[in-house]
Amino acid sequence: MEDCIFCKIAHKEISSEILYEDEFVAAFKDLEPQAPVHILIVPKKHIASLNDLTADDAELLARIVLAAQKLAKDNGIAERGYRLVNNCGIEGGQTVGHLHFHLLGGREMLWPAG
Ligand code: AMP
Ligand code: ZN
Repeated sequence: MEDCIFCKIAHKEISSEILYEDEFVAAFKDLEPQAPVHILIVPKKHIASLNDLTADDAELLARIVLAAQKLAKDNGIAERGYRLVNNCGIEGGQTVGHLHFHLLGGREMLWPAG
């Protein structure tokens, strides 16, 4: 995807502090953090949203969740707790059209927002 900002970050076409990566997944800090720890975890391949996942992506999704677990440990929020969030589509609040999961922690979370 030519104009996708998260493709560019994941493939290091624009500079960003990559906090985790493997062959399939990349993670980096959110530009406008909503919590002391706010990390975005993305597939390296372009997938527009959760709606576009297929059964073939099952392993990729597991890798994303395991990356979140590792990042939570590495960033000191595993014990206190954290939230892993996906916003899908307009009413879900998705603003970037490349599948991403927010790892949020370091403060108490409210429900359903904030
Ligand atoms: P969402 O609203 O779920 O689509 O989340 C998009 C997130 O991407 C927001 O929290 C933005 O702050 C974040 N964001 C947008 N552009 C960048 C960027 N270049 N680097 C890091 N985070 C970004
Ligand atoms: Zn993309």
